[in-house]
Amino acid sequence: MSVLVQSDRETAWQAFSESCRQCQQCSLSTTRKNVVIARGRVPAPLMIIGEGPGADEDAQGIPFVGAAGKLLNLLLFAFDLTDQDYHICNIVKCRPPQNRVPAPDEAAACKPLLAQQFRLVQPRVIVLLGATACQYFLGTKTGITKLRGQWIEKNGYFIMPTFHPAYILRNNNERIRLWQDIGLVRAKLEELGFLQPLDDIPVMPRGRQ
Ligand code: SF4
Repeated sequence: MSVLVQSDRETAWQAFSESCRQCQQCSLSTTRKNVVIARGRVPAPLMIIGEGPGADEDAQGIPFVGAAGKLLNLLLFAFDLTDQDYHICNIVKCRPPQNRVPAPDEAAACKPLLAQQFRLVQPRVIVLLGATACQYFLGTKTGITKLRGQWIEKNGYFIMPTFHPAYILRNNNERIRLWQDIGLVRAKLEELGFLQPLDDIPVMPRGRQ
């Protein structure tokens, strides 16, 4: 894996962002308001990948800013993970109408952009949020309930499949499992030397978000 110096990376990121904004490689380009590229840092040791933008994300052009994003933020904050530690994006960068699951041809069309993004971010730890992200990133149809909570090691990367926060908003009793998985991610980042151990034990946020 080549390591970019920061100035080259910033130039490459601007070029990449512009190519995303101009992209018309699938039909989602005809219904989007904004191309939703990322939030967080470039590079970052942790890359978090969801399914696709929803209405709030499409309107603002930023991933995970709706109710699911607020829950994700709470969990990350509880484990003292800041936007200096992570980079958040999605399998597809344009909103599927009515928030449907991205179709295989749409995910395939967007894959080269995600691959380019991955090379710029250079993560070591990857979190896949939900079954759709797992299906398209890992090429598996195994259910998220079976996949979640266990590391997949591939080419030197550590991949953690877990529940999508939108699912947790509808199934609050599963919140503990998403919490546990983010805890494993925090521990892995510490083990790899990206973070120092926390002084206090994190407390799981309660409530609907
Ligand atoms: S979803 Fe991806 S491939 Fe499709 S138009 Fe948007 S950026 Fe391009």
